[in-house]
Amino acid sequence: MPELPEVETVRSGLERFVVGRRIESVEVLHPRAVRRHEPGPADFSSRLRGRRFDGARRRGKYLWLPVGEDAMLAHLGMSGQLLVGPQDAPLSPHVRVRFTFDDGGPDLRFTDQRTFGHLLLAESGALLPAVIAHIAPDPLESAFDATWFAGRLRSRRTGIKRALLDQSLISGVGNIYADEALWRTGLHYARGADRLRPREVTALIEAIREIFAEALLAGGTSFDSLYVNVNGESGYFDRSLSVYGREGEPCPRCGAPVRRDPFMNRSSYTCPVCQPRPRNGRW
Ligand SMILES: [Zn+2]
Repeated sequence: MPELPEVETVRSGLERFVVGRRIESVEVLHPRAVRRHEPGPADFSSRLRGRRFDGARRRGKYLWLPVGEDAMLAHLGMSGQLLVGPQDAPLSPHVRVRFTFDDGGPDLRFTDQRTFGHLLLAESGALLPAVIAHIAPDPLESAFDATWFAGRLRSRRTGIKRALLDQSLISGVGNIYADEALWRTGLHYARGADRLRPREVTALIEAIREIFAEALLAGGTSFDSLYVNVNGESGYFDRSLSVYGREGEPCPRCGAPVRRDPFMNRSSYTCPVCQPRPRNGRW
C-alpha cells in the first residue's frame, strides 16, 4: 500500500505532467473505480470533460486535482497507480479510467489491479473536498499544527502507535512509518499516549518529519522514462528501514535482534533494548 511519501511523489508527478492541461475525454473502463461518485460513471466523465486540472493537492493519502471550484479526488487504495504516458501506448488490462487532453500530449491512466482505489468528482472541493474534511492534516502540510496535535495526543488513553494510525489525529502515518518513527524516538508502541512527556512528543513529530523527508528524497527519480509511473517506487523501503520487516536482524543502534509482535492484524517491529516495553502495559 502506498504510504504518504509515495502519494506525495505521485502528487508532484501530477503537478508536473497534468496540471494546466485541458481534459478532452474521460473513459471509465471499470465502473468500480468511480463507485464513490454517486451520480455514476457517465456523470463523472461529463463533468470533467472540457475542464482543466488547475492543481494537484494532497492530505494524507488522498489526492485531489482542483477543476475550477470542484475537484477530482483520488485514493490509490492498495494498488492504484496514476500513469502518464503516450496516448498510443497499449492499454493494460488494469486501466480503470483514462483521461486524454486536448493538447494531444501524454494521457493519464488510473490503473488499479485490486480496485480498492477510487476516483470521484467532489463538488466545491477545490480547497478541501468535504468527504475528507474529517481527516487531520499530515505532518508535511503547512496546516499541520504540532501544538494542537501534541495536546490531542496527550488526551488519548490509548497506545501511542494506535494514536499515530488514527487519521482524525494525524494523517498519512501508516504501519511502516509509525514503527520507524517510534524506533527513532526510542518509544515502545504500547506506551500510553496520555503518558508521554512533552519532549517525547516533540521528538516523535520531528522523527516523522525526518523520515518523510528522507523518503521523498529517495523517491525523486521515477519520472525519467518515456512511460512515466507517477506512482513511482520510492526505493526507501529497501534501503533505509531500521526495524520494519527486519525481525531477528540487529538493531542499527545497539545490535539487539529486532522483535516482531502481532498488532491490529498486522505487525509491530521494535528493538527490545532501545524501546523497552512499558510495565503493566502503561507508563
Ligand atoms: Zn536497539
